Amino acid sequence: MDGERDTSGDGPTFEDLGLRPELLAALGALGYEEPTPIQAEAIPPLVGGRDLLGQAATGTGKTAAFALPVLQHLTAHRRDRPPAALVLVPTRELAVQVSEALHRYGKDLGARVLPVYGGAPIVRQLRSLEHGVDVVVATPGRALDLLNRGSLQLGEVATVVLDEADEMLDMGFAEDLEAILDETPEQRQTVLFSATMPRRLDSLARRHLSDPVRITIAREKAAAGEAPRVRQTAYVVPRAAKPAALGRILDIEAPTAAIVFCRTREEVDSLTETLNGRGYRAEALHGGMSQEQRDRVMGRLRGGTADLLVATDVAARGLDIDQLTHVVNYDVPSAPESYVHRIGRVGRAGREGVAITLAEPREHRMLKTIERVAGSPISVQTVPTVADLRARQLDLTRGALRESLLSDDLDRFRVVVETLADEFDLMEVALAAVKLAHEAGGAADDDEEIPQVGFRPDSGKAPRAGSGRDAGGKPRRSAGGPAARLFVGLGREAGIRPGDLVGAITGETGLTGRDIGAIEIHQRFALVEVPEPAANEVIGALKATMIKGRKATVRRDKA
Ligand code: AMP
Repeated sequence: MDGERDTSGDGPTFEDLGLRPELLAALGALGYEEPTPIQAEAIPPLVGGRDLLGQAATGTGKTAAFALPVLQHLTAHRRDRPPAALVLVPTRELAVQVSEALHRYGKDLGARVLPVYGGAPIVRQLRSLEHGVDVVVATPGRALDLLNRGSLQLGEVATVVLDEADEMLDMGFAEDLEAILDETPEQRQTVLFSATMPRRLDSLARRHLSDPVRITIAREKAAAGEAPRVRQTAYVVPRAAKPAALGRILDIEAPTAAIVFCRTREEVDSLTETLNGRGYRAEALHGGMSQEQRDRVMGRLRGGTADLLVATDVAARGLDIDQLTHVVNYDVPSAPESYVHRIGRVGRAGREGVAITLAEPREHRMLKTIERVAGSPISVQTVPTVADLRARQLDLTRGALRESLLSDDLDRFRVVVETLADEFDLMEVALAAVKLAHEAGGAADDDEEIPQVGFRPDSGKAPRAGSGRDAGGKPRRSAGGPAARLFVGLGREAGIRPGDLVGAITGETGLTGRDIGAIEIHQRFALVEVPEPAANEVIGALKATMIKGRKATVRRDKA
């Protein structure tokens, strides 16, 4: 099923792009597995010294596309020399972000990177410039200011990058850009990236770029019929809220099996850990794992002992997982092709599939491009609120009761209702029964509110609360091998959630989240499955520890 590797998506590696070893080491340490399409196209000509005109938005990996070649060209022994590269960006925020990226990639090279922007004390920037800097990342206004003071010397600049050039023009920096470019050497390399290519930008490019390589990602429409029939939703989420948001969305969607795509190995590992902490059965899959490890992961997924696969594109290439119902893009993919490729894993053979994308507010443009290229609408929604989640859980309870009313033989409970009816109103009896059913249904008690944000103003879409598709409760299954069911004498009444038990067990024993099987939380007790060989150890450990501040009776479940 997953044995065949699909080679159609195989592009070049970072090694193929001719990058120096220090950069390859930095990328490896960051967990980047392969170049994004814009990087694959832009890096070789930039390393070769060509000018470049690239149309690419945030989220494509464009920063590394120009940062790596800039660093590639840095020579040693540059102490006290003026900057070798200048990156111009529209905002302070981007100046900091690009500087950080250059710093991360150029660590092993000892690259000295200075962000320069208005609003920050100029004295510190002057002092750094005096000490010698390799790359200056500046907003045009402040760059011009420093240039006029004679503190910023551009006579040795080998590369100038104009990043988000359309934004710089929109912000009225056209003249500043001209003035700055005039101060740089004629034979410099010039790189221009922009999300859009308005005519004004074209004329700027014509004047200042010489015989540029042109790169546009995502121009062509995907062939008709290529995009599968999949319900596509994007949630706008601030970066910091992503793990919580993903948990909430998964609670509502209740996938049978899902694959969650991340950009880097580090992200795969940390997200897997977070999800396991929340009580999901998540498995990591990335390029740093041996074939044997991968096979084991796939075995657990196919055997149903895991229901979430957290993976990088590289690791998931060629995997074909039958029971997959959901594809989640934890980040907006770096190219529309990658999006189409990812969501093609669900919605096959007439089955319904769901694609979910978590987008940061600044990534709206990339999402729009994807929507256009993929040729199918992506509905933008805000993350379900606590109220949405509760409503959804009540829906599930209502559904379960309805089913029971229609199909079950309820007669043996009649005596209970009749005796209670002598004492209470029938409505009250029903309410109490619903409450018990609801709580026994394992509804997660999540009361953390996630910030509701939308895209930046020009996105045009009003976010709307999500309306979950009907789906059954999340099955949590035990890991392979014989399992023992343990009784823990604390339940919902004591505020116990699945995560508390997972936390207590993994914290006190050698087990990991993925060793733990089904967890049922009842009103006054909980049942948890653990591997039989570890059962005694878990019982001993749980007896000796506090769960939610309380001691619990722990024993094998007799049932
Ligand atoms: P950018 O489009 O430059 O804003 O980059 C978007 C995000 O993708 C950043 O968080 C980068 O760290 C990340 N990124 C860039 N290139 C790669 C890559 N080849 N593999 C994984 N992540 C990447």
